[in-house]
Amino acid sequence: MSNQNKTILVTGGAGFIGSNFIPYYLAQFPEQHIINLDALTYAGDLENLSEVESNPRYQFIKGDICNRNLLEKIFQDHHIHGVIHFAAESHVDNSISNPGVFIETNVNGTFNLLDVAFKTWMKAPFEYREEYRDCRFHHISTDEVYGSLGETGYFTEETPYAPNSPYSASKAASDMVVRSYHHTYGMNTVITNCSNNYGPKQHKEKLIPTIIRKAISGEDIPIYGNGKNVRDWLYVLDHVKAINLVNAEGKAGEVYNIGGDAEIQNIELAHKICTLLDELKPKDSGSYSEQITFVKDRAGHDQRYAIDASKIRSQLNWKADSEFEDALKETIIWYW
Ligand code: NAD
Repeated sequence: MSNQNKTILVTGGAGFIGSNFIPYYLAQFPEQHIINLDALTYAGDLENLSEVESNPRYQFIKGDICNRNLLEKIFQDHHIHGVIHFAAESHVDNSISNPGVFIETNVNGTFNLLDVAFKTWMKAPFEYREEYRDCRFHHISTDEVYGSLGETGYFTEETPYAPNSPYSASKAASDMVVRSYHHTYGMNTVITNCSNNYGPKQHKEKLIPTIIRKAISGEDIPIYGNGKNVRDWLYVLDHVKAINLVNAEGKAGEVYNIGGDAEIQNIELAHKICTLLDELKPKDSGSYSEQITFVKDRAGHDQRYAIDASKIRSQLNWKADSEFEDALKETIIWYW
């Protein structure tokens, strides 16, 4: 089968990043097909994919990556020639209250997918079946696997893993399983570890949608602890482009960190969004910033994340196209 008309399996495509990725990929590769496998947990929403639902090159399957029989059937029925694996439980707060499902989906689910891909594509370690020669497994991961930084320094691909939450621990474990399938079986894998994303279609529970939603509804805008935790934000479409690039040109077995050089404290971010809202949708009186309130800190809250993206920049010529404030404005407009 030529690369031009292959079918790839996207998992978790009804979530935030996957649903931004699918329309981009279909437009980018006009002869390729996508099967989107998603369990439609509380975090998945097919509305996110309304723009592609009638595309003949797109098919949705509701199902769980922990269901091995289903995975085997999908790989056989659709001759899957590549996997881009987004499906995960992704909210740190939920992982603190209910860690079990994070281990189940993020670790066991990833193992299932990898193993079914391995058994379908390869006849023995380091021996691909001819018809599946170029098949690649792309695992989408997070910078949170590296733990927490102090005031200085950046996460590189060589930074030792030191996950602190059940979420990041489950992602770190899944990264290690992917790594092992490359080293032990010669599977063509790539892993991308990205910083915090923002943009359209994100679940309302996450930080930026929460700030926007609460501000507009006139409620308190909750900020954890003293608000000084730092995150490194990347616009989701820049992430999507980076995923596409690594998937097409990344080297097998490699890890690529992706980040937008947009570090900001949570409290500064809240003020920035409020200031933008003051311009875009002024209140009758006062500023949205007056609604910001500090709440009890998240247990084990990582202090700072910051990505060194020089590897993907220098080796694959990637850079974030979006400017933080412009993209944040677009994002605010999308949510109201
Ligand atoms: P999300 O929570 O918005 O979406 C996850 C999707 O996976 C949902 O559609 C959900 O229904 C689906 N899903 C969950 N469990 C499943 C299962 N067992 N079987 C099949 N589908 C299942 O997540 P997101 O923000 O789009 O993140 C996607 C990936 O990117 C995750 O692996 C996450 O760890 C990673 N990541 C996210 C960010 C971020 O800022 N959002 C940053 C870096 C990496």
